[in-house]
Amino acid sequence: MSVSIAIDGPAGAGKSTIARIIAKKLGYIYVDTGAMYRAMALYLIREKILPSETDRISAKCREADITIRYENGEQVVYLNGENVNGLIRTQEVGNMASASSPNPEVRKKLVELQRRLAAGSDVVMDGRDIGTCVLPDAQVKVYLTADSRVRADRRCRELMEKGVPCDIDTIEKEIIERDRQDMTREISPLRQADDAVLIDSSGMTAEEAADAVIALI
Ligand code: C5P
Repeated sequence: MSVSIAIDGPAGAGKSTIARIIAKKLGYIYVDTGAMYRAMALYLIREKILPSETDRISAKCREADITIRYENGEQVVYLNGENVNGLIRTQEVGNMASASSPNPEVRKKLVELQRRLAAGSDVVMDGRDIGTCVLPDAQVKVYLTADSRVRADRRCRELMEKGVPCDIDTIEKEIIERDRQDMTREISPLRQADDAVLIDSSGMTAEEAADAVIALI
């Protein structure tokens, strides 16, 4: 039987950094589900669809073929055959992902893909609904959070490292708004699963938080 570790939490809590460390230490596959919603969002942006156009999102998402491959240990997301890893990390795509992810058709399609990946391998999967919906039987469930200012500061540093100028107040506002959308949507809202362990990473390094998760196994 394959083993699953589910990590959920708000934007910028450090889920992907920590999940990557855990996957490396344990030899598991890291599945970044946010990247799948971002690839879908990129497709919708390219199709000039607005976040408010619910019906068009339902129809158009069927045309987006999203697949995952692992190349040199890294997850690569393909959108209709194109490697889009380098195009999905922008604020614009993140905001569109949050606006389009409540759509039931979008979720159904991506949840199926996520479950297929977990059925075949030991995985560390991060997202918003992994412990509550995608993998309700995961052996370890974590709800990872951090103070919104700390999360905004982390995002700003990431952006500045890439040479992208940023304003921490704007980033913090966007993070809070994204969390609000993710927590209040009807289908699979972001929430801590009843059997998930809460970890606040505000005062922790990524290594410390990863070790705290590994200690739960
Ligand atoms: O984690 P990341 O910031 O890449 O996620 C982008 C957006 O995708 C989130 O704000 C959320 O709306 C959506 N998402 C989701 N369910 C997941 C992962 C991401 O709804 N499992």
